[in-house]
Amino acid sequence: MSDLWTVHRSLERHATVKDMTACATCQEDLAGAIDKERSDGRMASIQAYPMVWAHLLMCPSCAETYRLVVVLVDADAAGLLLSIHTVLEGVP
Ligand SMILES: [Zn+2]
Repeated sequence: MSDLWTVHRSLERHATVKDMTACATCQEDLAGAIDKERSDGRMASIQAYPMVWAHLLMCPSCAETYRLVVVLVDADAAGLLLSIHTVLEGVP
């Protein structure tokens, strides 16, 4: 069975997620879904957080939040973000 089929079956079980999952609920679990994706891969994250991923497919607002968080996490991992202490030390 392909990974795509597994994703489809997983999301199909949550076909009514738009009705059941508010954006706030999705965003409560979004950090966990992103952490899982980064540590164990997207498939593992989808299996652990199917409601989040199903919601991201249907909600442009939460999908944009996901995209921006991933950009920030990638920038942090690359050492491109300044620490708050560095920023405050620059304040007169
Ligand atoms: Zn949403």
